[in-house]
Amino acid sequence: MTDELASYLDRTREQRLESFKALLRIPSISGIPAHAPDCRAAAEFVAADMRSVGLEHVDVSDTGGHPVVYGDWLGTPGMPTVLVYGHYDVQPVDPLDLWESPPFEPVVRDGRMLARGSSDDKSQIHMHLRAIEALLATDCKLPVNVKVIFEGEEESSSIHLDAWLEANRDRLQADFAVISDTSFFEGNLPSITVSLRGLTYFQLDVFGSPLDLHSGGYGGAVDNPINVLCQIVAALKRPDGRVNVRGFYDDVVEPSPLEREALARLPFDEDAYRESIGVPALIGEPGYTVLERLGMRPTLDVNGIWGGFEGEGPKTIIPAHAHAKISCRLVADQDPEKVFQLVAARIAEITPKTVRYSIQRLGDGRPSVVPIDHPATQAAARALTASFGSEPLYTREGGSVPVCASFESILGLQTVLLGFAPPDGQFHAPNEWMSMANYETGIRAIARYWEEVASLAQWPIGGRP
Ligand SMILES: [Zn+2]
Repeated sequence: MTDELASYLDRTREQRLESFKALLRIPSISGIPAHAPDCRAAAEFVAADMRSVGLEHVDVSDTGGHPVVYGDWLGTPGMPTVLVYGHYDVQPVDPLDLWESPPFEPVVRDGRMLARGSSDDKSQIHMHLRAIEALLATDCKLPVNVKVIFEGEEESSSIHLDAWLEANRDRLQADFAVISDTSFFEGNLPSITVSLRGLTYFQLDVFGSPLDLHSGGYGGAVDNPINVLCQIVAALKRPDGRVNVRGFYDDVVEPSPLEREALARLPFDEDAYRESIGVPALIGEPGYTVLERLGMRPTLDVNGIWGGFEGEGPKTIIPAHAHAKISCRLVADQDPEKVFQLVAARIAEITPKTVRYSIQRLGDGRPSVVPIDHPATQAAARALTASFGSEPLYTREGGSVPVCASFESILGLQTVLLGFAPPDGQFHAPNEWMSMANYETGIRAIARYWEEVASLAQWPIGGRP
């Protein structure tokens, strides 16, 4: 990083803080229809910010839902082009009475910016724009070409994003993508997320008689949908945590020794983890550590189950129907459609003829992996090491960032998940906060990252003409 850049960033700290707060004051809750004008206002705010830092072709793009904001800087032909993603929408704020200060009145306390969206994800989009601003202000150019998209529906399942990506495929061409919407693993040790789990999710409905039946008059002759549902659920998984569905593990990629080693290096205290969850003991597939089970292995879980009489007092019935929501977290190279078909086949095989059933699909997401030795990952690692003073940890998240899979399937781009939020930043919860040290250092790390990418001898994807 040049001296000019460093001094520019030192000099502009105050104005950056004010602009960050102004963005946080906009209650852009994407999931609540009454906040649609606020989402639009946040999009316009971000677009104005993009223009002011020197991005071009800035556009608040309609999607049918909340807009996507696009801007680019393509002034260095022949150098790599990076697609940068973040989101300007936020989660709802309930329960409001648990907030120490109002969620849309940002304040800094003890080095923490307290506000809804402070870490997820407004800080990270703001940091990207500040890095671009500083580079353009001091050098009149960026080391690489960037295309920036900030969406407004990430907290509402990105409903319109895939169609928008399809429609804008040409202008979104790049060498790789950077998503900044993840967190560090522990304290302020920088980390790079190298894999995310996918998902297949469905509801299973089991039906007996059209009406609830008297359990004295019919019990013993008529099957009970709740009993049957419990048998099905029990048959899908073995007591040791292994999913009991033929072919379920066929496409699971076994971790390489390098990946297992990287995971084993993470600071992780199994007892503290168990205690933090409040369970008497952990469970999981034999032969895998807890972090491997979370990051590298697929699951099957019942998310909800209901049916029959749930009111107060007795009511002796054989219920007419029973229901469960069931989800599988998937890992590379599992295909959500294929896994769903395998689980559905297993359900067909074990469901007795005494009941009818139906299955409703509730959503799918592909797993994604970015290899640790990918040149774009390694460039990020060098930038983080130089800025934060320690080498990044390579983490595997148990959850999903569906946009990562969309970038891969729609745009053909691999993604580096470069996030700066604190691991305990209370995302989606009251008192969400962002570490201002991570925010400041992160801006410098991003600026360095573009320099590192520019200096790659080998372009991240396939080489350029
Ligand atoms: Zn987010």
